[in-house]
Amino acid sequence: MIKFEKLNFPEEGEIISFNNGLANVPNYPIVPFIRGDGTGVDIWPATQKVIDAAVSISYGENKKINWFKVYAGDEACEVYGTYNYLPKDTIEAIKYFGVAIKGPLTTPIGGGIRSLNVALRQIFDLYSCVRPCRYYSGTPSPHKKPEDLDIVVYRENTEDIYMGIEWEAGDSNCIELIKYLNESLIPKSEKLKNKLISESAGIGIKPISKKGSQRHIKKAIEHAKRLNGNKRHVTLVHKGNIMKYTEGAFRDWGYELAVNEFRNDCITERESWILDNLEKNNEISIENNAKLIEPGFEKLTTSKREKICEEIQEVISSISKSHGSNRWKRMVLVDDRIADSIFQQIQTRPQEYSIIATLNLNGDYISDAAAAIVGGLGMAPGANIGDNAAIFEATHGTAPKHAGLNKINPGSVILSGVMMLEYFGWNKAADLITMGISKAIEDKKVTYDLARLMEPKVNALSCSDFANAIISYF
Ligand code: NAP
Repeated sequence: MIKFEKLNFPEEGEIISFNNGLANVPNYPIVPFIRGDGTGVDIWPATQKVIDAAVSISYGENKKINWFKVYAGDEACEVYGTYNYLPKDTIEAIKYFGVAIKGPLTTPIGGGIRSLNVALRQIFDLYSCVRPCRYYSGTPSPHKKPEDLDIVVYRENTEDIYMGIEWEAGDSNCIELIKYLNESLIPKSEKLKNKLISESAGIGIKPISKKGSQRHIKKAIEHAKRLNGNKRHVTLVHKGNIMKYTEGAFRDWGYELAVNEFRNDCITERESWILDNLEKNNEISIENNAKLIEPGFEKLTTSKREKICEEIQEVISSISKSHGSNRWKRMVLVDDRIADSIFQQIQTRPQEYSIIATLNLNGDYISDAAAAIVGGLGMAPGANIGDNAAIFEATHGTAPKHAGLNKINPGSVILSGVMMLEYFGWNKAADLITMGISKAIEDKKVTYDLARLMEPKVNALSCSDFANAIISYF
């Protein structure tokens, strides 16, 4: 059995195991939790109370979470000593028990760790960050129809400029790198030849790999497969028109995965246009089909026109039998959008989107923008998922000015708990909490952040009373 330095092994409960990336959850799992810094002291007790009540009401004695307190952040320094923000005990416990939930953590200043959250994601290779954004009726929103937004953002968690491989302007290594690029690598490339990086620039590296992209997009497609109707839809969001070999490659690898590994379940947007044209226009020629799917087809070069006709021929011969006769309409639609346009689209046509699979930086921006539409940070949950571990956490930080005041909105961590229960397959308890939160908000029983936006004004509940209000609807 695993030995800890300062933790006592839980007396009751079972271990969650993993098989091919899927969690096998027993009825009495041990779940390590990190209380969190700042407002974590208020949020965690409220969250635990709501989750325990929902599980108990849904399953009686048949299921129970055995919580196991582990330490990170400021609290860890109190127990394990200065600068010990992420003790070995905590890492070992999460590794051993597989699934954990955490409150927000302060980003340490000094002490060698860039960000505890990023460190946890990297240690456990939690490569997909999953952030659902949906509207709870009654939540004040700057939008006219926030209820139209119901999306899940899949943000790649391990690559991109978030790897933190960068050099400060003026640093000798930075100057050396710029010199090497300007004098050696750039002149070698026909395309880059006339480009020159300023000697006074800082440099950041943006690595995007096929393996990293595809394992992440795979999780997004698997999620879409579990949905119904037009929610069976994955949009690859990228800035590939500018960054062809990183963001553009992410898009191409996504399509490649969809048509190779998920051929029986997926249809790409272009394939769907081709099949749609065939079905609508009985005996359409390949050339006419090409004119319909490719704007300006006639003005293209002969070789490009031939390529498009080949593509259509290939679709007809390979999938018209399996995907035709409208069968494709029940499959997961995979399309792509340029990152800047998706910011518009989730505001102007939110109902057209479902799962957004994107890279690290894009995902960070998009999930916050989407959260704002449906009520802000207090209602924005998240999960970091890998093949051998998962950590559930809120999107917001420690909000230090509200710490210890029993004031903050615990909704985001409670909803992260809902995601954890869904991950366990304990949907009855998850649905109960979702219902409780919806009813509390509809009845204007909310914390200060939502109360201040409501018209007419309502009195705010404390953090703990909001939790009690949710439970009162169970
Ligand atoms: P923050 O903690 O997210 O707080 C910024 C503001 O957002 C708060 O002052 C509050 O606005 C609102 N807010 C945050 N949590 C809320 C909640 N539960 N309910 C309602 N409103 C909420 O951002 P920060 O002040 O920039 O960061 C503080 C620390 O947290 C930093 O050390 C940062 O690195 C860290 N951080 C941690 C995580 C994480 O653990 N995942 C994520 C982000 C940041 P009002 O005061 O206007 O009501």
